Amino acid sequence: MNPLNKTINLAAELIRCRSVAPEDDGAQSLLQEKLHAIGFQIFEVPCQGRKNFWAETGRDGPLLAFAVHTDVVPEGDLSGWTVDPFAGTVRGGRLIGRGAVDMKSQIACVVSAVEWYLSEIGGPGHLTFRLGMFVTGDEEPEGNFGANAILDFLAGRETRIDYCVVTEPTSQEEFGDTVKIGRRGSIHGEIRLLGQQMHSSHADQLINPIFRSLPVLKDISEFNWCPGNAYFPKTTFQFTRIQASGGASNTTPAELSCEFNLRFSSETSAQTIQNQVEKILSDSGVNYRTRWNCNAHPFLTEPGPFTELVRDAVRKVSGIHPQYSTSGGTSDGRFIAARGTALIEFGFVGNMCHMVDESAPLEEIDKLQQVYQQILIHFANHPTLGHRKPDA
Ligand SMILES: [Zn+2]
Repeated sequence: MNPLNKTINLAAELIRCRSVAPEDDGAQSLLQEKLHAIGFQIFEVPCQGRKNFWAETGRDGPLLAFAVHTDVVPEGDLSGWTVDPFAGTVRGGRLIGRGAVDMKSQIACVVSAVEWYLSEIGGPGHLTFRLGMFVTGDEEPEGNFGANAILDFLAGRETRIDYCVVTEPTSQEEFGDTVKIGRRGSIHGEIRLLGQQMHSSHADQLINPIFRSLPVLKDISEFNWCPGNAYFPKTTFQFTRIQASGGASNTTPAELSCEFNLRFSSETSAQTIQNQVEKILSDSGVNYRTRWNCNAHPFLTEPGPFTELVRDAVRKVSGIHPQYSTSGGTSDGRFIAARGTALIEFGFVGNMCHMVDESAPLEEIDKLQQVYQQILIHFANHPTLGHRKPDA
């Protein structure tokens, strides 16, 4: 079978596993079988009912890992789909199904590239580095029971990933135009402003939390959050919910609650943002409570030999010089990079992620497996990165 058909078949097989977390539906055992057959040792790392595993091959030398997730978001509104979302249908030059873009086709591309590379060099015994597969079953949407479980397992056996490629869709307009070297942080806040429920004819502005919220929320929303830097856009603020009701048209509410989200750069921190909001609140003299949840801290891999190597691999296949970016949502990269790994993300154009009729062009699948092949070749041939130290 030609290599592209093999990759498409594996991607379609993975799509047929309905792996909406916490379900896995056979996706990981399918991958384990493939990886085991080409010389990987498998270590299962289950966590809170989620399946995860680490696979490794190669004797010694620096550790390069590909990080993937097998879970997908639910199919959503089924009436919008023109095919069964879990059938893995090929139509009009595209593979269609939930996870076609994010990220089952990309997993198939990695497995094909690794299989090709190992056979090219004559088997894992000829690797000059160690090769890992970091496979989580819990990335969407919070990712609490996936990446960190594997990282703790690796720490327990004193294994550190030196270099990592996360196979998320990163291209913006055209395949190859963007690689991600970091991601913004994300913090969610809730403010409760306390007042008094009263007949509206008796209440004044001091006890009505709606009145009291107006200058405060204006100050918070207009605050000059940090401007970003060479790799990060400026920090953004967004209200996501506001609610206050006295239950009747002539009654003031006892409380106003408001939720908001900030996406922030590595120039600031979750703690600094919290302090700024709390200062505005306490300076205003309102009676308030806050609740915070930071589910992603920002990370950045400064451009260097590894990020350049990946860029070269992308350019070689796509003919495009990719830009470095830190935009978009979160990924498992944030957990892995936090442990001191040089990390980069590259994959398809991501505009079909999570949509109905999610689909990947077969042509991009072909190119992506070639990019991952090139990364392996470039890594092995790199003068400093991909070699074990000469025997002493
Ligand atoms: Zn993803």
